Amino acid sequence: MKAVIVGAGIGGLTCALALRQRGHDVTVLEQAPQLGEIGAGITITPNADRVFADLGLSDRMVAQSVIPERQLTQHWQSGDIIRDVERGAATAQHYGAGYYHIHRADLHSILVDALSAAAPDSLKLATPVQDARPDGTVLTEAGTAVKADIVIGADGVKSQVRSRLFATEEPKFTGQVAWRGLVPRCSVETDMQPHFPGVHIGPKKLFMRYPVRAETLVNYAAFVELYGWQEESWTIPSSRAELLEHFAVWAPEVTALIHATPDDQLFKWALFVRAPLDTWINGRVTLLGDAAHAMLPFMGQGAATAIEDAMVLARALDAYPLDEALERYDTARRPRTSAIQENARLLGLQFQGEDPNAFNSGGIKNEEQLGLFDYDAVHVDI
Ligand code: FAD
Repeated sequence: MKAVIVGAGIGGLTCALALRQRGHDVTVLEQAPQLGEIGAGITITPNADRVFADLGLSDRMVAQSVIPERQLTQHWQSGDIIRDVERGAATAQHYGAGYYHIHRADLHSILVDALSAAAPDSLKLATPVQDARPDGTVLTEAGTAVKADIVIGADGVKSQVRSRLFATEEPKFTGQVAWRGLVPRCSVETDMQPHFPGVHIGPKKLFMRYPVRAETLVNYAAFVELYGWQEESWTIPSSRAELLEHFAVWAPEVTALIHATPDDQLFKWALFVRAPLDTWINGRVTLLGDAAHAMLPFMGQGAATAIEDAMVLARALDAYPLDEALERYDTARRPRTSAIQENARLLGLQFQGEDPNAFNSGGIKNEEQLGLFDYDAVHVDI
């Protein structure tokens, strides 16, 4: 089978690898001319780690990620601990799979290296896709037509494949603006360094941080309910002063991280989502990851669900005739991801509620309480 995947993000690359390992011919078309250091931290939860283990990537994942011991939820101003969850060995033992934080660029390069080893020349950079057709034809912006048995739109929240072939509305601004920063750990005074990964929560705002790159860097993401500015890009620079307008009176561990952020390591973006679709199938074309179910990041499941999609789709395509495979993929994945989209939105409201101390009695379950970590994309019935 010949598969064309549009987009070399986390989901597209994982799917390419899973298909390649099953002996299929894969081409990945990526608009970016080069794959670089864009992005910062990504959380890999046990449900995603099972996929990487099956793809033979565990050793590199462990080597390049940080496995947190605990994870805290704290009051925005006092820093008082509202929830404390054990991670590390306890999580690994409970789920038989890991929970870790990794720099997106590191994860990306692990996937690219593995794909290059398995299928040299399968990744085509600087190849933006303009259109796709239900018969399996993909048209690049340069005017080349590529024909495939299956086309997989893994082209992110602004997916061109989705816009062209599916009954969809445009991406919708969520009212959330995010900032992300990367801070050299050594530049933050020791007593101001948060000891464990965690999130400070307050009314209409939250500030989440965790270490990456052998704990040499602290990655943070700050979310503010804010209307007006609405640009969705990973490369828009911001400034400490702009971020401090929103967090100046937050706990000293929060402001210390903001003050220590290098000038070129602070970016902001507006968060967009798209409503669930009625189907992910149009002829020989389907979707995965953010293209199919972009979600708010409050459950840390954006990358994990793209990785799950990738494995389930590859298994279905390998095991069944095309039409049946797509039906089975759609049935297996759409209800789960639609539910996660909605739960991530609700959890965000609970995180950003008026009274942080009421967080534990808010009634909205987090990703672990919902049982999301139990999902095994490698073995689930499809
Ligand atoms: P994405 O990771 O968004 O990948 C989509 C890919 O498709 C991109 O490489 C894009 O360039 C490509 N593409 C889009 N349109 C076309 C087209 N027309 N033709 C060809 N290729 C196309 N999440 C975090 O939690 N933290 C981060 O720091 C972070 N940084 C990110 C940086 C970048 C540059 C990107 C693209 C995404 C980032 N994300 C980050 C989002 C996160 O990676 C995704 O939400 C998640 O991994 C789901 O992945 P995906 O493969 O579905 O989509």
